[in-house]
Amino acid sequence: MIPLAVPNLTDKERKYLNHCIDTTFISSVGEYVNELEVISAQKTGAKYGVATSSGTTGLHSALMVNGVKQNELVIMPTFTFIATANAVAHCGAVPWLMDIDKSNWCINIEQVKDELSKKTIFVEGKVIHRASGKRIAAILPVYTLGEVPDMDGLREIADKYNLPLIADAAAAVGAEYKGKKIGGLADVTVLSFNGNKTITAGGGGMVLGDDEELMKRIKHITTTARITAEYDHDMVGYNYRMTNIQAAIGCAQMERMEELVDKKRKIREYYNEELQGMKNFSLFPKGKLTNSACWLSGIVIKEGGIEKIRELCVKLREKGIEGRSFWKPVHLQQPYYNALRADYLDVSENLWNRILTLPCSTNITDDELEKVICVVKSIINE
Ligand SMILES: *Cc1c(COP(=O)(O)O)cnc(C)c1O
Repeated sequence: MIPLAVPNLTDKERKYLNHCIDTTFISSVGEYVNELEVISAQKTGAKYGVATSSGTTGLHSALMVNGVKQNELVIMPTFTFIATANAVAHCGAVPWLMDIDKSNWCINIEQVKDELSKKTIFVEGKVIHRASGKRIAAILPVYTLGEVPDMDGLREIADKYNLPLIADAAAAVGAEYKGKKIGGLADVTVLSFNGNKTITAGGGGMVLGDDEELMKRIKHITTTARITAEYDHDMVGYNYRMTNIQAAIGCAQMERMEELVDKKRKIREYYNEELQGMKNFSLFPKGKLTNSACWLSGIVIKEGGIEKIRELCVKLREKGIEGRSFWKPVHLQQPYYNALRADYLDVSENLWNRILTLPCSTNITDDELEKVICVVKSIINE
């Protein structure tokens, strides 16, 4: 079976892991955790990094430290992995769901502008959603598949409404916007090192940012808020630490970032070249201002919906190829039926059930890629 997206591991990962065992540093303290924070910041152009137990807990911490509280609203796209919304809900806050732009599958910035100007008012310096009375607490864009929305445009909106910009860059390591690395585009940027991402640590996350004070507070709340060695704690903290074992793999992977991201881009390029101009499906979008990290690759079928995608996955599986559907929008998920919605979410609704992701592990061979192309062409045109 040619898998969808599996880790690409070498002797480097093995060596660093062995070092953990040899030194007994396998838990939440160790040199690899510190090293991963430094190298992740360096490679993404941020000043500081704080390692966390997952991308989700990294997002939760970033939101909390930026002042997101119970019953407040966080602006985010509906087309994302549910973890983005969960991080908001873990603060007791409510997602305010926006549609996406066709051109990059990222949050529709014109809509954000429009919704904010139509539906909110300033009350004593706070931005209040008129109908619900809830305060807007943050804007949380997602760097979908390693694409980046127009962050200059979002920054303008964030400044106008005095809102923090927190980026869910879970799968976007290596991406660029207008020639800039992603670590400094938002106030805080969060990566995931889950097993299906381009760079993995088995599991884990990384919060990136330039504000030293803020980043120290993120470190503090993610490590049980301890203030002395004598078990003094100054608030209800969290155990959101990454272990040295995870960080060991993460360091080895991050040192290979260029190689791994380059391969992701080559896979996308190959699929796009071989599958362009087909009548029954189109390709993943490519932003004009960005150099996408191309986390996943695949196709978008013209019609047939989720049943058709399911059927195609079965046919692929019969030929030894793993294909999958992609994110079901947040507003169609049971726990978020009551989230606040923008006036229209049409692009997300019309897109999600037509996406078929195809094998794109960074260790996929040329022969395997060729086989995928051959099979996809045959089953879609039959
Ligand atoms: C993977 C992913 C997450 C969650 O990261 P975890 O490390 O699995 O918690 C969040 N948002 C997006 C867009 C993701 O792709």
